[in-house]
Amino acid sequence: MPDPSFLVCLDLEGVLIPEIWIAFAERTGIAELRLTTRDIQDYDELMQHRLRILADNDLGLPQIQEVIGELTPLEGARRFLDELRARHSVIILSDTFYEFAAPLMQQLGWPTLFCHRLEVAPDGRIIDYHLRQPDQKRKAVLALRSLEFGVVAAGDSYNDTSMLEVAHAGILFRPPDNVIREFPQYPVTRSYEELLREILRATKNN
Ligand SMILES: [Mg+2]
Repeated sequence: MPDPSFLVCLDLEGVLIPEIWIAFAERTGIAELRLTTRDIQDYDELMQHRLRILADNDLGLPQIQEVIGELTPLEGARRFLDELRARHSVIILSDTFYEFAAPLMQQLGWPTLFCHRLEVAPDGRIIDYHLRQPDQKRKAVLALRSLEFGVVAAGDSYNDTSMLEVAHAGILFRPPDNVIREFPQYPVTRSYEELLREILRATKNN
């Protein structure tokens, strides 16, 4: 039985699976889909741009899911997640969409996932997207804490730092150098072995 005193919140892309938009751009050869929030800072503008490109290329949700279905989780991710879930309940907090993540979540054994959703027309076209709520990673951690759970959070990038800040312990996993420089307060892990060790250390010390 997992120890119920601590929950573990994990980011998804870059921690357990590849970056979906980048992998998708590589598979389809549509270079414009490689753009991220580093290129277009306004998230809504970026998403509208992505949806336009998908429509221009006649890519509806079924075609997209077919491509995503060929992707696999990062090497060792499933084993790590299984070992972690035997020790603590895990909630994955992600800024992806349920409809994109589904094929990869199946390969991970359907862990609990909180993320956003797409609005899809009956013919499969993606019409719009809906955020579950703004800054949902941070708000989810705060909500779990309000239920008296201890929370350890781990992620790889900027969009994780607001949840790391409010967790009892925050851990970085394979972060880019600029994130390491800007957030020196968080331990940096590079393998699943290290990440598991750091999580277990945090649940014992907090
Ligand atoms: Mg990430």
